[in-house]
Amino acid sequence: MSQGTSCKCPESKKPVKERRWVVLQRNSRCSAFDGYRQMFSDYSAVQCHACGTVWRTKADFVLSLPNGKNLYDLSEGARKALERPANYADLPASEQWAIDKSLGILDWDGK
Ligand SMILES: [Zn+2]
Repeated sequence: MSQGTSCKCPESKKPVKERRWVVLQRNSRCSAFDGYRQMFSDYSAVQCHACGTVWRTKADFVLSLPNGKNLYDLSEGARKALERPANYADLPASEQWAIDKSLGILDWDGK
């Protein structure tokens, strides 16, 4: 069961822990006015940071996803930085520099 259309981009084909999916709101209700409708409290809002899709689900994989910010609330630099490879932190500085150059975030201040 899910609400809205879940991500169908290549991220959805990867193992859950490698997906660039984050939880925007964990087990939240639709609104304060729905407090008595417990059916919504099982759902969490999930976003794919690759394609920006947001959907609500109560699937078990939510438990293994990190909390994250809405992609559209991030700065341009932060959005670009999401495109760095998963092993970015382990790469030599020269490769990190080349990646940031290709993403256009060499001057990004990290905010
Ligand atoms: Zn996606």
